[in-house]
Amino acid sequence: MSSASDLVGSCFRVSSDVLGLLIRALKDDGYMTIGPRKVAESIQLEVIDSVDDLPRGWGDQQDAGSYRLVRRSDSAYFGYNLGADSWKKWLDPRRKLLWRAKRDGESWEAEQSQMQVPRMAFIGVRACELAAIKVQLRVREVTQAHSSSPDAQSSTLSAEAPAGVPEEPFLVGINCSQAAATCFCSSMHTGPAFGSGCDLVLTEVINDDNHNFLIQIRTKRGAIISSKLPLLPSIEDDLAHIDRQIARVSDSQSRQLNISNPAEFFSRRLEHSHWDDVATRCLSCANCTLVCPTCFCSTVEDTTDVKNAVAERWLRWDSCFHLDFSFIHGGSVRSSTRSRYRQWLTHKLGTWHEQFGSSGCVGCGRCIAWCPVGIDLTAEVKSLSQPTQ
Ligand code: SF4
Ligand code: SF4
Repeated sequence: MSSASDLVGSCFRVSSDVLGLLIRALKDDGYMTIGPRKVAESIQLEVIDSVDDLPRGWGDQQDAGSYRLVRRSDSAYFGYNLGADSWKKWLDPRRKLLWRAKRDGESWEAEQSQMQVPRMAFIGVRACELAAIKVQLRVREVTQAHSSSPDAQSSTLSAEAPAGVPEEPFLVGINCSQAAATCFCSSMHTGPAFGSGCDLVLTEVINDDNHNFLIQIRTKRGAIISSKLPLLPSIEDDLAHIDRQIARVSDSQSRQLNISNPAEFFSRRLEHSHWDDVATRCLSCANCTLVCPTCFCSTVEDTTDVKNAVAERWLRWDSCFHLDFSFIHGGSVRSSTRSRYRQWLTHKLGTWHEQFGSSGCVGCGRCIAWCPVGIDLTAEVKSLSQPTQ
């Protein structure tokens, strides 16, 4: 008798109606389902209950410093490119409670945060976003290893390990049907084809009156969920269709980032005159770091209530673009915009390799679209490649 595991590695064809059944099957299995929603004038990643919540028929136009939703001529569920939101807000919430202390007469009772994190299923993950999730998980692994080292345990930092770390989510990937003008995942080798890691990978196929999904089953838990769906065998051309679509999306990307030895590239350009040029444009607003799916800087905030009866410690997102992020006694280590932009790019593209074994950039293009003055890291790297002025 065949088991669900036998489905791993298979590809099936389902009608678009089955998307609703997939969401239902994940919810019945206890997952909180999270996916794209049109919220105001952008696509955000929020809790979804059914296919009715998906941004059906919406696409977008993006370029340096601009993002607009537009109506598509078809009714694609996943016909948009990436918005400002990334999955990191679910893996690493913007703000979370570390501990709370309550006054009891003259003494204080402290309790560690017991934040309950639900099992999550992410629906509509793109290939570059899967790469970003892996970078995030790698960062977590390295920083947790550091916080459990004897050195870290003897410091006060080890007492502040974040509570409520989520387990690895169930991942439903979706192959991109087009690239935005800001995408460059192809040159980063993070897309548009999926690497390993998704439980299921969908491809949306709309032809004339037919609206289907191809569903590739990648893992055992993906197989168990899929076994609850009315699957139809794929035809020979289906896999070729997926390959053609990926090749077309890859070929259409006009931006690229190619640095052969990134750590050395940046270490040789620390005094390049182009950093001054970027500093005349950069507002130090931190947008690029907040939309980036891999940036993870955070800060700790202490609060008390007005009666001085409850004290709390919160961990919240921060950015290396903020002046006080590098503040120590005597002032900020990086006091100029030039030094902060240089720090961001040098870490993201260069020293990240030494720290975490990969680039910190997956080529999603968010920092280009959401920079209010249209600063484009691919163009900045090209300028840095030229001799200093
Ligand atoms: S640096 Fe920019 S392009 Fe690269 S992953 Fe971050 S937001 Fe995306
Ligand atoms: S590069 Fe753009 S988004 Fe990033 S801090 Fe500067 S102005 Fe803001």
